[in-house]
Amino acid sequence: VIQELKRCIEGEVLSSASDLNRYSQDESIFSVRPTVVVAPKNKSDLQAIVTIAGKHRVPITARGAGTSVAGQAIGSGIVVDFTQHMNRVLDISDGTAIVEPGVVLDDLNRRLAVHGARFAPDPSSHAWCTIGGMVGNNASGPHSFKHGSTRQHVLSLQCVLADASVVSSHEIGTRFPALLEEVENRSSQIQRSVPATRKNSSGYALDCLLKSPPDFTGLLVGSEGTLALLSEIEIRTIPLEPQWTTAIISFSSLTDAILAVEEIRGRSPAAIELMDHYILDAIGRLDPTITDRLGLTGKKASLWIEWEGEVERPDIDDVRWFYDPKEQNHIWKLRSLASKELQKQPGPRRPLRCIEDGVVPLRQLDRYVLELRDILRSHDCDGAIFGHVGDAHIHVNPNVDVEKPYLPARIERLMDEAYGLISRLGGSISGEHGDGILRSKYLAPDIVSLKRAFDPDGIFNKGVKTKDTKTLSYSLNLKKLDVPFCLANPVPAFVPQNV
Ligand SMILES: Cc1cc2nc3c(=O)[nH]c(=O)nc-3n(C[C@H](O)[C@H](O)[C@H](O)COP(=O)(O)OP(=O)(O)OC[C@H]3O[C@@H](n4cnc5c(N)ncnc54)[C@H](O)[C@@H]3O)c2cc1C
Repeated sequence: VIQELKRCIEGEVLSSASDLNRYSQDESIFSVRPTVVVAPKNKSDLQAIVTIAGKHRVPITARGAGTSVAGQAIGSGIVVDFTQHMNRVLDISDGTAIVEPGVVLDDLNRRLAVHGARFAPDPSSHAWCTIGGMVGNNASGPHSFKHGSTRQHVLSLQCVLADASVVSSHEIGTRFPALLEEVENRSSQIQRSVPATRKNSSGYALDCLLKSPPDFTGLLVGSEGTLALLSEIEIRTIPLEPQWTTAIISFSSLTDAILAVEEIRGRSPAAIELMDHYILDAIGRLDPTITDRLGLTGKKASLWIEWEGEVERPDIDDVRWFYDPKEQNHIWKLRSLASKELQKQPGPRRPLRCIEDGVVPLRQLDRYVLELRDILRSHDCDGAIFGHVGDAHIHVNPNVDVEKPYLPARIERLMDEAYGLISRLGGSISGEHGDGILRSKYLAPDIVSLKRAFDPDGIFNKGVKTKDTKTLSYSLNLKKLDVPFCLANPVPAFVPQNV
């Protein structure tokens, strides 16, 4: 495979031990060593890669910046790195842009700013993450409360399908008449399976195919590289906002903060973010002067609210207002960096991302947080609870003791309980991070033959979004956990072997 790739593609083919190690991790708890890494230069390279992979039945994992937290940017076969060459902005027009998948969000926004525009979805990983990766995960961020997720901002996609043909997402429908017929026959089942949440990045967005005409662009957004390789992305842009207003409200308890959310939602902000005391401590470590400046001394929780444009000051207690753009930038940058800062702590406990992305219907928010805290306590892993509370979408970082035995089994039990709770509340196990390797075991069996139609030989991102994990092996990421631990073939269950 390596020799054939070297013969057929213009881009680089990397197979040294150090390269393979470098690409064997993303930001998840997993680690999978690829066979080879390629950095394609163009569409023809992508076609050649798909042809070679299909011929030899070697899996392909598309990769942007590798900041995914559920293991969907690592794979055992060919890893395709789009950031090296396929990172160009091809066109910027009024309200739209066409980009290659490997362009980094901040770089794109710098280019758009010259035209008075920006891309609305804003993951906290904006300095590193790529548009291809955002499309893969249907990513979003604090401003999803006003602007929704990536799916709402993608106009069309150019794809390389499993037969190596290049096709626009608007023209894919003609390729899959049987799939569309099956979707139509099962329309009520598909509609029932859509969670009543404001966001969802779990499973496939089959409901997009129920639209007229069927929306294959929407289906491909959030498909985590499991259906096709994307070679070009047409996005919608929005005008740059000249002015922003930030309000920081402090609370004596997390419960008080949660109870205030509904009223704030009615005041039409662009973002409502929850910070608990773990996150506030992390932010305080990043900037020791900030706790006092934000009025957070002695407080246990906080809501950070942002409006686009000028706002009338709502009459709320315990609020600090910020209008200076520089100061607001600084505050929101701290919010972006807080999640990474959480990872830095001494001792055997690590804030593992394993139940980190649940979202529930708005009316279930307080029950979700209350019962989730009980679950964390019963597992002796109380940890950070924060995030996009306006959408009832919460990030949770259980502080797991990674040195105690039976780590995989403990993680699995925690996931079973947390995901059981989310399912009882009618939510989704992923609001923006995607399923990856981590959550694939929890997905309902495919109700239509989508994956088989797009990827008959199962080459695209094996083991992600489907339970086809027979040939996948991975180990819990040694370096980040810093524990002598290695587990082969644990999917779908985290069986406690080799502990
Ligand atoms: C500190 C931190 C903060 C984060 N905050 C947020 C947040 O606020 N919101 C959020 O949504 N996420 C967040 N994330 C998760 C992640 O950063 C985002 O989902 C991001 O969009 C992933 O982009 P990436 O370029 O790293 O993609 P990768 O991780 O490299 O890939 C993501 C998925 O897209 C697929 N893919 C990439 N390129 C292509 C292509 N050309 N064709 C087909 N498939 C492709 C990959 O196969 C993979 O399945 C955070 C992560 C970290 C580490």
